[in-house]
Amino acid sequence: MEVKQKKRPSTVVIIFILTVVMLLGCYWYLQYIENQYAEEAEELLKTELNQMAGQVNKKLDLQYTNLQYIEGFVTKDTVEFDAKQAIDKIIAVKTGNEFSSMGIIDLEGNLYMATGNVIDVSDEDFFKQAVKNDRYMSNTIVDDKGNLINAYTLKININDDCVGYVFATDDVNELKDEMNVPDTTLAGRGCIVDGTTGTIITNNLYADEFLEGFSIYSYYTNKGYNKVSKRIKDAIEENGPECIKVKFQNEDYIMYGERININNWYIISSISPDEMSENKNSALLGSNLFIGILLIVYLLTIILIIFIQEKNKKNIERLAYVDEITGGDSFTKFKMNVEKLVMGSNDDYAMVDIDVDRFKFINDIFGYEEGNRVIRYIWKEIGEIVENGETYAHRSADEFVALLKYKDIDELGKRLEALSERTAGRTFQIEKNYDIVLSMGIYLIDNENFNIDSAIDRAVLTKKSVKGKHSKLYAIYDDKMREKIIRDQHLENLMEKALEREEFKVYYQPKYDSNSCELAGAEALVRWYNEEEGMIYPNEFIPLFESNGFITILDKYMFDHVCRDIKNWLEAGYSVVPVSVNLSQLQLYNSGFIDEYKEIIEKYDIPPEYVQLELTETTLFSKISTMNEIIDNLHSIGFKILMDDFGTGYSSLNMLKNVKVDVLKLDKSFVDDIGETKGNIVVSSIVSLGQLLNMKIVAEGVETQEQFEFLRDIFCDEIQGYYFSKPIPKIEYEKLLTKGAL
Ligand code: C2E
Ligand code: CA
Ligand code: CA
Repeated sequence: MEVKQKKRPSTVVIIFILTVVMLLGCYWYLQYIENQYAEEAEELLKTELNQMAGQVNKKLDLQYTNLQYIEGFVTKDTVEFDAKQAIDKIIAVKTGNEFSSMGIIDLEGNLYMATGNVIDVSDEDFFKQAVKNDRYMSNTIVDDKGNLINAYTLKININDDCVGYVFATDDVNELKDEMNVPDTTLAGRGCIVDGTTGTIITNNLYADEFLEGFSIYSYYTNKGYNKVSKRIKDAIEENGPECIKVKFQNEDYIMYGERININNWYIISSISPDEMSENKNSALLGSNLFIGILLIVYLLTIILIIFIQEKNKKNIERLAYVDEITGGDSFTKFKMNVEKLVMGSNDDYAMVDIDVDRFKFINDIFGYEEGNRVIRYIWKEIGEIVENGETYAHRSADEFVALLKYKDIDELGKRLEALSERTAGRTFQIEKNYDIVLSMGIYLIDNENFNIDSAIDRAVLTKKSVKGKHSKLYAIYDDKMREKIIRDQHLENLMEKALEREEFKVYYQPKYDSNSCELAGAEALVRWYNEEEGMIYPNEFIPLFESNGFITILDKYMFDHVCRDIKNWLEAGYSVVPVSVNLSQLQLYNSGFIDEYKEIIEKYDIPPEYVQLELTETTLFSKISTMNEIIDNLHSIGFKILMDDFGTGYSSLNMLKNVKVDVLKLDKSFVDDIGETKGNIVVSSIVSLGQLLNMKIVAEGVETQEQFEFLRDIFCDEIQGYYFSKPIPKIEYEKLLTKGAL
């Protein structure tokens, strides 16, 4: 059976989405914190750098103010400028003390030092730059004493003509000092670089690595820029007031820079946001902890969800795969097992359906608990004969299925007989007379055309052919069985059309008063006449209709036709006798049937005493209280109730005192025994018992004069059987009606 289910997103999808959302959330949060710190770091970096640049610029401005003063001093009142005289003047007034050395360079590149030395610097880079620029400051160079210095130059102009250059040097530390910002916690790696060449002029104390004279490009790199030439300058100019990101020793840094008031120089500083402050780390620790806890809670939730799911799944699996009564495999699981075993093996397999005879008896009399105990017991016993590579299960109330391997039929038969002996050996305490009797149907599986449902169906069908026949333990599905199935199918296909076409005919079998031999009644028996099939007898289609439920429709149809006939007979002035109509036990489950039958009576407007209802003993037994309720209702309409096939059920006598039937129909099997001493005793006892209980007795299947006379002599009320008449069509029965008596 296919169960339609509303599609729900699976847990996996939900967990996946949750996880993605969760991770995105964490990522976003960390990113946010990170950004927060990055922004703060940038602000601090900018502030610090501004301060550095301010100090450096102030220093440079001061030095150039000093140099300008010297320039003014050496050109004052001078017409013909001479470098030697200019330096002498300076020495004389001892100016320029702010510098570590002083000098004047003439246009040819001769440097006249305050120390008295004269050096040719015409080839020096700083001289060439001095010629080009009004003021210039050299890269950090090594002086003759081995000190790292920077040289300042300033053009000396007289009447707008350059006549020489003021020259001064400072220890590089002078510049360095200006780059150390007091009271800063930031410790940015600051340095001054030449924007054109990237050459490092000098650094602050946090940037020892940045050696003077090297190119800054060899230190910093940036993703996507392998050639970082001009990168820093460009970045500074392009970014303006923004920081840029760079890599230094494989770590991410932010960098900021500003141009300073000399040459094409920049002061830059960089920091790694990570090492910026301890604050950040403790704050990050807090948020990491928070995220950690969140993740743990999340994980626990997921684990809980999965756990609950698994548990539910197991429960559902348990429900689906475990049989409630036995605790073994359910029928569903059995079918799954069978598919696996048959598909995965070349062995020959047989599907065996095993049924417990008269199981209802246990349930009815001793209750379900006892019934379940029997089921468990049999299940256990089947388990004893089932081997590796085989499987079995409890199928329904009193049925079991087993998939067994077989080499030959005899061997399989022996195993099943062994099983039957095991179970038969045990009687239950509850009822010493109850032996477990099994019936089995075997279907030999054809691996080529294997269909599990039809295999089980066939085994079940085959079992039905032996059920109740205690002479035979099992039957094997064969061609005859196959033909029966095909025949049943065929009849099923025809039945509804047949009903429409009135192919079902009412035959009447007369019942005679044993004493007067007058017609006392009749039983309505169905016949199916089909043009192609000819006459079809009830034993062929009644069990089929009982299994497919069509019997309830047919019974009603028969009842209707009998009433119609009676109506016609009454109108035609026949002396009508009661007709009994058979009622299948399925009809009793149809809660509306009493009203439906009542309506039919009313439709034809016939006195209800002309129709009687035959219930079989097994039907009657099902549930005594419900049964009596139904009988009461039928009685109140005016129907008489006949107990059909009396004596064939398992508790006939017991039932006599409980169920309020009007007539007993003594089964043919008793009538058959008339003539034998014991048979005679049994029959006469039943008849007198019935009479004592105020019941009428009808004997069925009376075929011989001997039987008739015996029954007459023991005062059995009515006789039905071939001795008087077979079931006959309506027209012939009508002839009997006019005649009245034999
Ligand atoms: P039943 O109700 O026990 O009907 C009696 C059966 O015994 C009838 O078989 C009848 O023809 C047969 N019979 C009567 N006298 C003799 C005799 O002297 N010797 C032998 N050997 N047989 C005799 P039939 O008509 O074949 O019906 C078989 C069964 O089918 C019925 O058994 C009844 O259970 C069922 N049936 C027939 N018609 C209907 C119906 O309309 N509704 C239902 N629910 N069942 C029906
Ligand atoms: Ca009957
Ligand atoms: Ca009968």
